[in-house]
Amino acid sequence: MPLVKMSDLLEDARQEKYAVGAFSVANMEMVMGTIRAAEELKSPIIIQVAQVRLPYSPIEIFGPLMVAAAREAKVPVAVHFDHGLDLEYIKKALDIGFTSVMIDASLMPIEENISLVKEVRDLADKYGADVEAEVGQLAGSEDGSESNERIYSNPLDVKLLYDKTKIDCIALSIGNAHGLYKKEPKLRFDILEEASKLVPIPLVLHGGSGISDDDFRKCIRGGIQKINVATASFNMVYDYVSKYCNTGKRDYFTMSSAIVNGTYESVSKHIKVFGSNNRA
Ligand SMILES: [Zn+2]
Repeated sequence: MPLVKMSDLLEDARQEKYAVGAFSVANMEMVMGTIRAAEELKSPIIIQVAQVRLPYSPIEIFGPLMVAAAREAKVPVAVHFDHGLDLEYIKKALDIGFTSVMIDASLMPIEENISLVKEVRDLADKYGADVEAEVGQLAGSEDGSESNERIYSNPLDVKLLYDKTKIDCIALSIGNAHGLYKKEPKLRFDILEEASKLVPIPLVLHGGSGISDDDFRKCIRGGIQKINVATASFNMVYDYVSKYCNTGKRDYFTMSSAIVNGTYESVSKHIKVFGSNNRA
């Protein structure tokens, strides 16, 4: 199955009312666990890495690995650059063959956000790649190092950004947060409903680690077709590796398999909730 464009996966999901998981990966083992889950469940999938994670997973080395894994997969896989912060890295990702990029200019006023998104749109068009942007600001930063104030998405800004840039999908801030939730989040479904009426494109939910299954399903019915999951997988990997290390055994390759298996468990669980199984 070839490497595919994210927009093709999301368009099918929109027609059939399910969501495609965008799973963060940090190394080869996590890529293998993620794709194995997708293959066994016959699910389309998005694998992604965020710009803030590149000190751990350099894009020049890890990016080509992600693209190669997608090309080898038995299900459609899109390779996405998550939370791109500047054009230099976005261009690197596109040169490597990523099929979509996110430009996160959500901290800027909407007019500046729009003009940066336009620049990225023009660049991505040269590669035939898709673009995701964000309106509003999530609580918690992508790498979990600081807790930003939440700014809910204004549906009129969502419409303005879409009208001016014609991008492929938009991430919303509706009470979702990066990292783990301290208590169960209360999502603003009214914002989602209004935004989805105003734009004809799939919407994106970041901060998918710890949202209840019922809320996930409600989001999907309301127009969310891409859901980002990072922390849940990283924590599951940590738990699997700790469990192995606590056995007192000392075999590197068993530990390596624990990374694959931990990722597999987290990704499988989310695919089933998102309803993307048996859609590939
Ligand atoms: Zn995010």
